[in-house]
Amino acid sequence: MPYLTSEYGNPSGAHRMARNANKALDESREVMAETLGAQPGEIVFTGGGTEADNMAVFGTLQARPGRLVCSAVEHHAVLEPVELVGGSIVPVERSGRVKLDALVEALGPDVSLVSIMLANNETGVIQPLADIAALVREHAPNALLHTDAVQAFSWLDVADIGSVADLVSVSAHKFGGTQGVGVLVVRGSANVSARTIGGGQERGRRSGTQNVAGIVAMAAAASEMVSNREHEIKRVSALRDHLLDGVLSTVPGSIETSPRRAKTANIAHLCFEDIESESLLFLLERAEVYASAAASCSSGAMEPSHVLGAMGLSRTLGFGSLRLSLGYTTAEVDIEAALAAIPAAVNQLRASADGRHG
Ligand code: PLP
Repeated sequence: MPYLTSEYGNPSGAHRMARNANKALDESREVMAETLGAQPGEIVFTGGGTEADNMAVFGTLQARPGRLVCSAVEHHAVLEPVELVGGSIVPVERSGRVKLDALVEALGPDVSLVSIMLANNETGVIQPLADIAALVREHAPNALLHTDAVQAFSWLDVADIGSVADLVSVSAHKFGGTQGVGVLVVRGSANVSARTIGGGQERGRRSGTQNVAGIVAMAAAASEMVSNREHEIKRVSALRDHLLDGVLSTVPGSIETSPRRAKTANIAHLCFEDIESESLLFLLERAEVYASAAASCSSGAMEPSHVLGAMGLSRTLGFGSLRLSLGYTTAEVDIEAALAAIPAAVNQLRASADGRHG
């Protein structure tokens, strides 16, 4: 709050109020560096995950022209930039993990960036980043490795696991901060061109007056999240498992899209036979269960998710997908409410479809 009211100085200025804002930025940079396993000078504050991802892709391309490679299940913030410049898209297994032999085929000395997310935002599936990094270093020696850790940060030790990547994106609103603030870690050895130029903030890597209040809040959220992470992983995965077991045992024709042990603790992802998720989401919302069919950015568009398509799920099953995300605010009572609402909603939709067909 002080950075929205009494300490509302421009951190690039010279007077006392500006210096206070700048000091707050420095302290936040140290916290983000510590939680992300980076040096303070390697932290670039951005306006969220999309900007960090775009900066990783376009900034690398500008600094070192070459071919770009990413997986077929990346968030659109990576996938679309890579597609736009004609990059190579690597397929995934049915499990949602990148096909490592196909990755090797896509690599080569002409590749300047490989971008593989740490955990998927729809399914929670975790990629084997250490194995991927080893392949990239061997078969694409001129490439930087970027990982979109936006979804992973709350559930995986990104400081450790992400240390094999040259570039790492996170976004504050995924771990208790506000929307519109994020970080791209740019390791000392990596050279990424600025996407916004002007005032030279962030050591010339991202011009524009920083969102001081948002950045201070992000750092506070990150240190709180990291100190509670182990506890939350245990608590939330137990709730998630209870939710999934409950739905699978009460709703015939429900399928868990990927094995639980291969994903982050917070995501329950299901597909229902003969159900259209749009109608399901409508009924669930009436029961105050707020869920999503695919990535929230594409909810409402009647196209099955590109992630499920890449995993080889049929279009029909893809249309009946449901993503339930849990978090630090999720309690047992929420799970019980979802467990009451989901079977009832599916039954209601199937009964009305039977009525129409009969
Ligand atoms: N990458 C992943 C994996 C995400 O889940 C999201 C947002 O949901 C983004 C990138 C985009 O981040 P932001 O919404 O902060 O722009």
